[in-house]
Amino acid sequence: MALSEIDQPSHGNARRISILGATGSIGKSTTDLIRRNRERFDVVALTANRKAEELAALAIEFDAELAVVADPDAYPALREALAGTQTEAAVGHEALTQAAGVDADLIVAGIVGAAGLDSTMAALGQGSLVALANKESLVCAGDLVLAEMQASGARLLPLDSEHNAIFQVFESENAGDVEKLILTASGGPFRTRSRAQMAAATPDQAVAHPNWDMGHKISVDSATMMNKGLELIEAAYLFPVAAEDIEVLVHPQSVVHSMVAYVDGSVLAQLGPPDMRVPIAHALAWPARMESAVTRLDLAAVGSLEFSAPDDERFPAIPLARAALMAGRGATVILNAANEVAVESFLDARIGFLDIAETVARVLDRVEGFEIASLEDFRSLDRESREIAKNLVKSAS
Ligand code: NDP
Repeated sequence: MALSEIDQPSHGNARRISILGATGSIGKSTTDLIRRNRERFDVVALTANRKAEELAALAIEFDAELAVVADPDAYPALREALAGTQTEAAVGHEALTQAAGVDADLIVAGIVGAAGLDSTMAALGQGSLVALANKESLVCAGDLVLAEMQASGARLLPLDSEHNAIFQVFESENAGDVEKLILTASGGPFRTRSRAQMAAATPDQAVAHPNWDMGHKISVDSATMMNKGLELIEAAYLFPVAAEDIEVLVHPQSVVHSMVAYVDGSVLAQLGPPDMRVPIAHALAWPARMESAVTRLDLAAVGSLEFSAPDDERFPAIPLARAALMAGRGATVILNAANEVAVESFLDARIGFLDIAETVARVLDRVEGFEIASLEDFRSLDRESREIAKNLVKSAS
């Protein structure tokens, strides 16, 4: 469906919505918004990896047409929980991709990691609005994602708070007058820690983000600041701005979600409380607006807003990601695959916190990249990079 054909949500004309990764942090924020605005949305498909009971409860609550778990072990529980309901239960990677391709007005891509790529592509393939949280899709296959979007007439709405902020203040008609994008970063839980302190950091400390409540993978990415590196790559695909004109600025209060600087010296920013329901509400209702139940921003209570340049020595993930983006030839695929393996290994206490960026750097050194012209190219480079990363982890632990 072309963008122009998508109706504004209103009573009796609900927007048909699917949520990929419905049981995750993004999924829960999305269902919370839908719950409070039931008349505006019809839920079509919901997916999860293995949380079958949670998924079934959501499917029943929202009377979804389809519920899919990726993990076959979770299927019996899903089928049983949905027996006698109107919701069809399905399982596996293919069913997940099919769920993304079911006709809907808006699809929330909220799966974590490169595992979300195929469903993002399928969602784009049906030509509707895709609210993209799964930044890894763009990191792994940005050119393919954009090509699919152009071919189908789909439109990407960024859900990442930084990219959603830029989307809100980016004057497309004056794109040539944009001087730079400024991505803000909270700095994560270790913003003021020394390298020695970070070397001893535990998984529990790393996932305890000071401002945001998120899934474990992105929380660790925030602690290493790889999240900002991935976002730098994401921004380079989403907006017509050269990679060298995308800056990162540490802003511990997470109130200014990002900025666009124009040639006349104006800097436009979007502000809001650190609550993902703000950017998600923006995307769900776009191009209109909808109520969200978030605590309103109280700038007098916040008092002061601080900004500083990131420290590349303590947080080498940002320069690593920037270098991968500039290098091309699949380097961002290698970066992402190595990072996913390293984060999982850290969460399983098999490597230390500083080993995450170190592993990524070593895999980038060892794996020879190539242009990613197809999803098969992506899969092959992703597989090889993961294997090398796993071997490095094994020898380190
Ligand atoms: P969570 O870990 O909280 O949730 C991930 C979701 O994806 C769950 O529904 C999970 O199912 C499902 N899932 C996990 N692995 C697979 C798989 N192999 N196949 C199919 N489904 C799978 O992640 P978040 O919600 O935190 O993050 C999701 C994405 O959004 C990430 O790309 C992240 O970077 C991005 N993002 C998140 C933000 C946040 O505030 N959380 C902010 C900005 C971006 P199950 O529950 O069954 O495991």
